[in-house]
Amino acid sequence: MHRPFATVMTDFGCPFGCSFCNSRSFGYALRDIDDIMAELEHIHKMGVKQLFIKDMSFASSKPHAKRLLEKNDRSAVDFKWNCIAAPMLSTTRSPR
Ligand code: SF4
Repeated sequence: MHRPFATVMTDFGCPFGCSFCNSRSFGYALRDIDDIMAELEHIHKMGVKQLFIKDMSFASSKPHAKRLLEKNDRSAVDFKWNCIAAPMLSTTRSPR
């Protein structure tokens, strides 16, 4: 763990509806990429070194996550980060 750390959400809720989980009852919404980047740039300036992406399942929208990660790669922000993601999102290949 690198300190200081912060939490960030890139979406709200979860689209998958696993039978044992009530996450879907909260709805599902994606945050605007520019809004997320503005938050990341702000906390980066504050000296944050590590992020916990607090989504119920990060990258539940792969196109949204890909756009975010690509935009982050082109920015000056640099974090160690971790997240929770649904196992059905795993792949043996890199996302395209
Ligand atoms: S993927 Fe995770 S958060 Fe989403 S419905 Fe299933 S258990 Fe809940």
